[in-house]
Amino acid sequence: MTLQFDVNTVTTAFDTLASAYQLPEVWWPADDPFEIMLGAILTQNTTWSRVQTALAALREHGPLTAAALLALDPATIATCLRPTGYYNQKTQRLRDFCQHDLEMGGTAGWMALTTPKLRQRLLSIRGIGHETADDILLYACDRPVFVVDAYTRRLATRLGWLPSAPLPYDTVRLAFEAVRPHDFNSLRRDHALIIHHGQQHCRPRPRCDGCPLLAECVNHPESAQSGAVIAPPWRSPND
Ligand code: SF4
Repeated sequence: MTLQFDVNTVTTAFDTLASAYQLPEVWWPADDPFEIMLGAILTQNTTWSRVQTALAALREHGPLTAAALLALDPATIATCLRPTGYYNQKTQRLRDFCQHDLEMGGTAGWMALTTPKLRQRLLSIRGIGHETADDILLYACDRPVFVVDAYTRRLATRLGWLPSAPLPYDTVRLAFEAVRPHDFNSLRRDHALIIHHGQQHCRPRPRCDGCPLLAECVNHPESAQSGAVIAPPWRSPND
């Protein structure tokens, strides 16, 4: 099956979502890029509120820096991360990331890399996959990348842009990047809109009444486009 990423169709959909939801521009609450990186790692398989609880607990033991975190007893870190689930695994991942951060010379070292090199380095760290790496690139490092998460795949499939069979991460990312503005503020807004829409309407069990994209959705029985796609059972921990 082929991708259906027509630039006018995709642009219209994002404009429709922007008009419907009027979200604020900035969307990742953190004091600095390193904290965003930590949050991106910890938010895997949990909710953002639990990540905030864990980060607040870590802060009670000292500053959120790689050196300070590596100086903590791993058992202490694990106790702080307990609300996020998989806390022993996340403790190891957080410590691995801190070690890489020290080797990089901190945030300035990450920022000095080109986007492909930065992504490659992040993906080499145990526990960092494509989505987490791109969260870090987009939000911590101000790079114009399109984050593909469960919300994105679900919406794009229901709108008929993606086939129902899952495609590789980079195939979907590059398809979006080819039709969206090449600046990080726009792409952050896109990501926020998709998540908000995925929480308000396009949930695993969709709430199509009042959906701003109903008219162009192949997944909705009342849409003129209906019938081309069966929605896959993707799930997001935030649903
Ligand atoms: S009409 Fe329903 S399935 Fe389609 S985008 Fe809206 S909420 Fe999702």
